[in-house]
Amino acid sequence: MLENKDTSKTDISQLGEFGLIEHLTKDFKVEQKTTVKGIGDDAAVIESHGQLVVTTDLLVEGVHFDLSYMPLKHLGYKAVMVNLSDVYAMNATPSQITVSIAVSNRFPVEALEELYAGIKTASNIYGVDVVGGDTSSSTSGLLISITAIGQAKKDDLTYRDGAKENDLLVVTGDLGAAYLGLQILEREKQVFKVNPKSQPDLDPYTYLIERQLKPEARKDIVKLLSDLEVKPTSMIDISDGLSSEIIHICNNSKVGCNLYEEKIPLDPQVISTCEEFNMDSTTIALSGGEDYELLFTVRTEDFPKIKANPHLTVIGHMTHEKEGVHLITRANTKIPLVARGWNALENE
Ligand code: ADP
Ligand code: MG
Repeated sequence: MLENKDTSKTDISQLGEFGLIEHLTKDFKVEQKTTVKGIGDDAAVIESHGQLVVTTDLLVEGVHFDLSYMPLKHLGYKAVMVNLSDVYAMNATPSQITVSIAVSNRFPVEALEELYAGIKTASNIYGVDVVGGDTSSSTSGLLISITAIGQAKKDDLTYRDGAKENDLLVVTGDLGAAYLGLQILEREKQVFKVNPKSQPDLDPYTYLIERQLKPEARKDIVKLLSDLEVKPTSMIDISDGLSSEIIHICNNSKVGCNLYEEKIPLDPQVISTCEEFNMDSTTIALSGGEDYELLFTVRTEDFPKIKANPHLTVIGHMTHEKEGVHLITRANTKIPLVARGWNALENE
């Protein structure tokens, strides 16, 4: 659709850079008390009480997203989620974002309106102000970089390096669905290329596709942990896959880990789709990525506070560093975890 320029669409050059920024950001309102100055000056000004958390992600067309199945509105939403997830992973609350884009003239103004509609929806739902950004042209494709700023009390901040031997390893939600959603979308793209008239039945995969196209950052977990009076000893968000995130915590905290295969939370659609495609659901959960769930460790004393919670699953425990990082399979064998996937499968 974007390949052939549509004359009914508005060329970016008609607005010019200033006109474009003004057009895209005119509806953004300042809601946060800590936003002293938003869009419109040389820099934004933010009031800070505790410590500030700052994180940036860069998304590049063709590398991180494919516009043939990723609607621009969803892309805008997801770009915000990816950043907010990093702020929540610090046990902090995001308050502002900046949005920088580079666009080729292949994109009409209407396409950018879609992108910004997604950014606006995400900002409204998650209560963050868009306080600035930058706009540039690009020779090809779309590039979007978002920076999120969050606030936390010093004592609430949770790093990757605080896990201790015997701590419990906990994950939110379920894993592997976003990766499978991408596989389904890729497959449909190929089918569509061969037969544009095909009517795919995507009903069995709705949850998977939603997890890929419209991920939600776990805003609720920071509040839940605070309500339960549980301070995680370490935390990270799952962007690359469970195994690499576990390894990050273990390396940073200088501990080992036993992860129990039977405990890994999977949605029924993940299980049925893995069966259909003859894939191993554990491998998908370990290496899939883009789930944007939170992975954290808690002291064993905190187990009673978290055990009945439907959002939280204890999937393992931390061990002495020299014991290494392992998956304990359903058959009760111990397999070393590697950052991508799991050793045993390379031989399959
Ligand atoms: P400067 O020349 O100082 O970089 P700009 O003209 O690029 O300023 O930006 C003007 C204002 O608009 C600034 O507040 C900037 O943060 C904001 N801004 C620029 N581009 C974007 C964008 N893509 N999204 C949101 N805000 C933007
Ligand atoms: Mg600028």
